[in-house]
Amino acid sequence: MSVPSLDLKLYIAGEWLDARGRQTEEVINPATGLSLGQLPHASAADLDTALESSEAAFLKWRAMSALERGQILRTAAGLLRQRQHHIATIMSLEQGKTLAESMLEVLISAEVFEWSAEEGRRAYGRVVPGRFPGWRNTVLRQPIGVTAAFTPWNFPALIPARKITGALGAGCTCIIKAAEETPACTIELARALHDAGLPPGVLNVVFGVPATVSEHLISSPVVRKVSFTGSVAVGRHIAGLAAQGVKPATLELGGHAPVLVFDDVDVQRVARAAVAGKYRNAGQVCVSPTRFFVHEKIYREFAAAFSDAAGSLRLGSGLDPQTGMGPLANPRRVAAMESLVEDARAGGAKVSAGGAPGGSEGFFYKPTVLTDIDPGARVMSEEPFGPLALIIPFASEEQAIAQANALPFGLAAYAFTSNADRITRLADHIESGMLGINTFLIASAETPFGGVKDSGYGAEGGTEGLDAYLTSKYVAQAPA
Ligand code: NAD
Repeated sequence: MSVPSLDLKLYIAGEWLDARGRQTEEVINPATGLSLGQLPHASAADLDTALESSEAAFLKWRAMSALERGQILRTAAGLLRQRQHHIATIMSLEQGKTLAESMLEVLISAEVFEWSAEEGRRAYGRVVPGRFPGWRNTVLRQPIGVTAAFTPWNFPALIPARKITGALGAGCTCIIKAAEETPACTIELARALHDAGLPPGVLNVVFGVPATVSEHLISSPVVRKVSFTGSVAVGRHIAGLAAQGVKPATLELGGHAPVLVFDDVDVQRVARAAVAGKYRNAGQVCVSPTRFFVHEKIYREFAAAFSDAAGSLRLGSGLDPQTGMGPLANPRRVAAMESLVEDARAGGAKVSAGGAPGGSEGFFYKPTVLTDIDPGARVMSEEPFGPLALIIPFASEEQAIAQANALPFGLAAYAFTSNADRITRLADHIESGMLGINTFLIASAETPFGGVKDSGYGAEGGTEGLDAYLTSKYVAQAPA
């Protein structure tokens, strides 16, 4: 297979800017540890140009009809579909996930573009009956303004696609700082929009030292809305910066998803689905199933089937069609897995699959299953964000729900059961932004994606995704 080289640039005011005269950072292939190219960092002057162009473009972009804006987003979606294989190859190179996963991510990103293109036409306001004859109360929905988005490296096309098109579909402009570790996919999204005729300044793509860029952008009075996906710690910091300027923020901050497996399911089938769900993107997924609470009657069978399937996944480059699980995105994740597993082992946990780094190059860690884990082990409460599955028995539904809700996280949760009354109780009592019943598929363009508790606030996708970029204006009209 011929491997494309990465075209690493900033995209500011409709121009592609290269590394000349700028600081750079190396982008690394996590499957080999070798360089893929040099990424330019935006200087303070570049960031100011991005802010100025975003502000100027907002006046023109919001004045265009939602239909016209949607046409540009739809054309860009078509280009993403045409370029699917090229972008997916880039994704597997810079992020590590398997090519099949990357292909799917590009497709879903195109669907997100299409959803936002249409949803922008549904920014409905309302007419509220007046209190007196001839009075009319109108509520208008208007784009909030220039938005600043910060995205991580685990879904380098899909997460930026949600933030960029949510903003653009609503009539806002967007400055995005995508992850420096996986910049090329976001650059490809910008390229599709540029080629589709996006006016200059409507989207700016910048990179740099994350804390410096976010502080510069969020403290600017030009920026009116902030959206961040990443860790809870950084989310708190970003929320603080936004609060200083009284700017609304959407925060998607990861989780530690519980999975409740009851004794009325096909154990083998659920175990197979669970392994596919867990090791997708090497577990580097904010909704990754992690704490498997399994009814004690089926616990042994489930743990054995899960561990067998996990242990047989083949590690390798995402571009190798034989690969079942790719590398972790960076050496920090491998170190984090080693530390969490070592701590659990010291507390008496058994490792029934994996439990060690893999491969002779790159950043691999084996698909790992832990059982008999001490409740005080760090991995029981710290988000592993990697290929670790914890299998824990439970005796009653009440106990399982209490364990599921025990952590400060509340992003995704899953349950497998065929009991309809139980499903209703779970939907009522599980504390999460998303709940998958008999499925691990909980994300789509048309449904909201977001969490509760420490997992953040606000949602992306669905009708909620547009709401995040609109304000309400009440117009009271009396007879002249
Ligand atoms: P991190 O918290 O340092 O970085 C996460 C992301 O935030 C990165 O893309 C980084 O560039 C960005 N970031 C960091 N500091 C920033 C700042 N001051 N301003 C703006 N952006 C900033 O962690 P990491 O080592 O890259 O990833 C590990 C942890 O991050 C994981 O354990 C996981 O909890 C979390 N994470 C969550 C998601 C998610 O989808 N919710 C995605 C990636 C990482």
